[in-house]
Amino acid sequence: MRSLYDLSLKDLQDYALSQGFKPFVAKQLFSWLYHRYATSTTGMHNLSKAFRACLDRDFCVQTLSVGAKECSTDKSEKYLFITPDRHSFESVFMVMKPTQLDKDGQILAQEKLTFCLSSQIGCKVGCVFCATARGGFVRDLKAGEIVEQVVTLKREHNLEPTKGINLVFMGMGEPLHNFNEVVKAIGILSDPHGLNISTRRITISTSGVVPVIDALGALDLGVQLAISLHAVNDALRSKLMPINKTYNLEALIQAIKRFPIDTRKRVMFEYLVIKDCNDGLEHAKALLKLLNGLKAKVNLIPYNPNPSLKFERPDLDKVAQFADFLNQKGLLCTLRISKGLDISAACGQLREKKQGLAISAV
Ligand code: SAH
Ligand code: SF4
Repeated sequence: MRSLYDLSLKDLQDYALSQGFKPFVAKQLFSWLYHRYATSTTGMHNLSKAFRACLDRDFCVQTLSVGAKECSTDKSEKYLFITPDRHSFESVFMVMKPTQLDKDGQILAQEKLTFCLSSQIGCKVGCVFCATARGGFVRDLKAGEIVEQVVTLKREHNLEPTKGINLVFMGMGEPLHNFNEVVKAIGILSDPHGLNISTRRITISTSGVVPVIDALGALDLGVQLAISLHAVNDALRSKLMPINKTYNLEALIQAIKRFPIDTRKRVMFEYLVIKDCNDGLEHAKALLKLLNGLKAKVNLIPYNPNPSLKFERPDLDKVAQFADFLNQKGLLCTLRISKGLDISAACGQLREKKQGLAISAV
């Protein structure tokens, strides 16, 4: 049955009209879904019984169940979602910065929360370092399943509807291979009558699907673009990321140049640092040259190990030298020490749990 999270406010208004109700009931319903995180139509007391009966006949509210929840020592939490067709995928709740208090206990700065979302179950791209790729591709997530990840994480953490959060499409899947559903989900998530998440707080990370970067750019949604670069020459990038054989570095850089970027923002380049593979100073120099002239920032991600893969985590001193070199040359570079490493919730460690699905409630 169709999920209510799959419908935009306009879709709900059209539905209400088609059933003989006034369109304003759609806004009331939207508020139940996104301000009160309702899990069923029971209790939606300002909606008529007749309208609720129609909703119950045609839709369900919750489609996903939380099969398991793991908490990291760094306060990140990994959620395993189970779909009605009995697949699973993961999302991660991350506390990027804790609330800062002064000596009297007054709040100086609010905590910074980021939800890492999945866009597909599995992935077709097949990057050799990524655990998601190892599980193969199962299916695209529907817009409603993307929206429901956000609502569930907000509900589970009792977050005020107005609490600002950042969303990053850095979980399972290649978001630009599920473009229509991702764009639809962003429309629902950013609706001012619902969760009202600014598109400036949404980052889409891509392995570099050039034509779809152009399609995303044409929509000019205001979302942040992050590019998984990981290598500075085509030979190495094609070995690590097969997509580079279709869209090489030159094509990718040209697409980024065409992409509309907020004047206050930069394109983020994620650079996975793998020991003795791409961690040398010569790679840093080539990276500087490649990104010359772009409004860019580089985020170095030390490779997160997967038991089944042959790569090794780099020496962190070497990564720091890599970062220092770029910063000294004026290319903004940060180091991402992934959250949730101890619970395999870090970048590239998410995959479908085929065995031992914990279906019971957490
Ligand atoms: N498919 C998209 C988004 C999901 S992957 C993409 O590739 O951009 C999110 C990030 O995790 C990407 O930058 C990806 O390259 C990185 N990643 C994948 N495997 C990793 C690993 N083992 N260690 C660290 N980062 C990894
Ligand atoms: Fe897919 Fe991204 Fe993993 Fe590559 S890194 S296989 S694109 S999820």
